[in-house]
Amino acid sequence: THFGYKTVESEKKEELVADVFHSVASKYDIMNDVMSFGVHRLWKRFTIESAAARPGMKILDIAGGTGDLSAKFSQIVGDSGQVILADINDSMLKVGRDKLRNQGFVSNIRYVQANAEALPFPDNQFDIITIAFGLRNVTDKDAALRSMLRVLKPGGKLLILEFSKPTNEMMRKAYDFYSFKVIPKMGSMIANDSGSYEYLSESIRMHPDQDTLKQMMDEAGFDQTDYINMTNGVVALHRGYKF
Ligand code: SAM
Repeated sequence: THFGYKTVESEKKEELVADVFHSVASKYDIMNDVMSFGVHRLWKRFTIESAAARPGMKILDIAGGTGDLSAKFSQIVGDSGQVILADINDSMLKVGRDKLRNQGFVSNIRYVQANAEALPFPDNQFDIITIAFGLRNVTDKDAALRSMLRVLKPGGKLLILEFSKPTNEMMRKAYDFYSFKVIPKMGSMIANDSGSYEYLSESIRMHPDQDTLKQMMDEAGFDQTDYINMTNGVVALHRGYKF
């Protein structure tokens, strides 16, 4: 945004992202398992462990989609705590809500349609905020980081799980081949939708690398920022605190 007006490009990106997630929502979980060979479960498990949530905490899962992280957090925080699954896309929210309700998660999860760039919550609300595989879809990432900092409690922690830059050349080449040649093919075979999966690969390539994202977190005002590479940097978990 410039002076409060959205640029043509940013409006286009928002529409594109909306179309992609409306279109992949019903196939999202199975595609995740197939495309990552199930490894996204390990990346998420590590994120949950790093969050070190405790009973009674209030947790915001931004771009929560089909709710993998929210479900785990819901079990940990228990009835005295609360999890808010926020996502901009109503198709993804619906798939997530139906899935979690079928699994018996009811009492302590709320579902909120919200844009990460302008979170509709008061200041200093959450002990932990997570955003998993969501930040790369957000148009104004700096605005999103500032918004997250605002709603985090002092002492609270932000965890960003996202694709990043593979740490060695061989992995980088293999990964490029996989994401640009194989993933769109899988998308067309399994979900009959290669375009959406081309977008997803492209958005991974465009996303800031480990050090750039860490710097963006610093500039937004987070303290003690760091990151941990997983799977040779294919994915990184960034962490930061509000003090
Ligand atoms: N967190 C889930 C997971 O790890 O499986 C879902 C990740 S999915 C790849 C990305 C999600 O980001 C989609 O559900 C999409 O609707 C959501 N999203 C995209 N732009 C967003 C925005 N500006 N604010 C909030 N959510 C957004």
